[in-house]
Amino acid sequence: MNTEILGDTMGETRHTKVLIIGSGPAGYTAAVYASRAMLNPILVQGMQPGGQLTITTEVENWPGDSHVQGPDLMVRMEEHARAMGAEIISDYITSLDLQNRPFTAKADSGTTFTADAVILATGAQAKWLGLPTEEKFKGFGVSACATCDGFFYRGKEVVVIGGGNTAVEEALFLTNFATKVTLIHRRDSLRAEKIMQDRLFKHPKIEMQWNSEVTEVLGSENPNSVTAVRTRNLITGDVKDVPCHGFFVAIGHAPASELVKDQLPLHNGGYVEVEAGTTRTAIPGVFAAGDLTDHVYRQAVTSAGMGCMAALDAERFLAGQ
Ligand code: FAD
Ligand code: NAP
Repeated sequence: MNTEILGDTMGETRHTKVLIIGSGPAGYTAAVYASRAMLNPILVQGMQPGGQLTITTEVENWPGDSHVQGPDLMVRMEEHARAMGAEIISDYITSLDLQNRPFTAKADSGTTFTADAVILATGAQAKWLGLPTEEKFKGFGVSACATCDGFFYRGKEVVVIGGGNTAVEEALFLTNFATKVTLIHRRDSLRAEKIMQDRLFKHPKIEMQWNSEVTEVLGSENPNSVTAVRTRNLITGDVKDVPCHGFFVAIGHAPASELVKDQLPLHNGGYVEVEAGTTRTAIPGVFAAGDLTDHVYRQAVTSAGMGCMAALDAERFLAGQ
């Protein structure tokens, strides 16, 4: 986090017409549109400036770029939003009051933001299995980000769990370092895109273990390090230890709706509900965009599209006030 900016704004109250919370594709696109509508938006970036695409490598489905690195794309989006006039602040919103107007957001630095309209674009965060041993070895062999940690497993064996695009991408990426990658999935087919599955099944370093769950992460202490994962076949009940130094959990993402969970209706286990075909939430003046509200598509381009819609919805709302 940029301490210079935090220091400058310590304890202040700032008012803005539009407060955008989140700096993924949804937040930055909302910032571009809100700036061009002369709404002088403030965007608060959160703990992960650039959002989820900053923890991946190649993005091949962003229109106009057949190959672009996720972190580069997000730097470009940030520059674009700044160039249009958005104020981008390195801070984290710790509480949000949507019951009174103007809306109030308190930030980690001590700054309070008041806003006539709020665009929620807090995206999603990695899910974990919830095993005590997973927790114990987090950062010591257990990871949810191959791009961040893959390099540590050069010449070693690793295990990935999951069956979606993330798990397949992580497994393929890890072949750059590891001698062997075992992908464990709880069913006998993947939900990842077919083109990704094709690459996965053809890769000589990748082995599939179907119909299996991981019940325990095994390792040694002082210093903590992973030596294997214990698996159980969900059909036969057979228990097997798969030796590995790294265990990557890629079982999906949960919406980051903590800030609003008691203030707005949620659906499908935590996604912010919006009126169909719009980004309007149950509270007039509060809009939601991107992975925070979408349990179906969850793509960069759909998030960016919803960011655009949210800024246009906010503009119309403010014009009507
Ligand atoms: P996110 O990108 O999740 O960003 C959320 C933002 O909210 C972050 O900046 C965070 O710091 C901020 N935030 C959260 N809480 C707070 C708070 N309290 N205060 C302030 N800020 C907050 N999609 C594709 O289309 N193509 C791909 O190739 C692709 N690859 C992917 C690879 C991986 C490994 C992952 C995990 C996802 C991938 N996706 C891909 C999905 C894509 O990244 C998401 O759909 C997209 O990033 C969602 O955008 P978003 O703006 O809704 O939220
Ligand atoms: P996802 O599509 O929700 O897949 C999660 C996977 O984890 C599923 O296969 C699921 O199994 C499995 N799983 C869930 N909970 C589990 C548990 N407790 N134990 C074991 N396995 C569990 O999540 P994702 O792969 O992170 O993708 C999220 C979104 O981002 C998707 O919309 C995806 O398309 C997008 N994304 C896109 C790209 C790309 O375009 N290249 C790359 C990455 C992500 P089941 O299949 O049995 O449910």
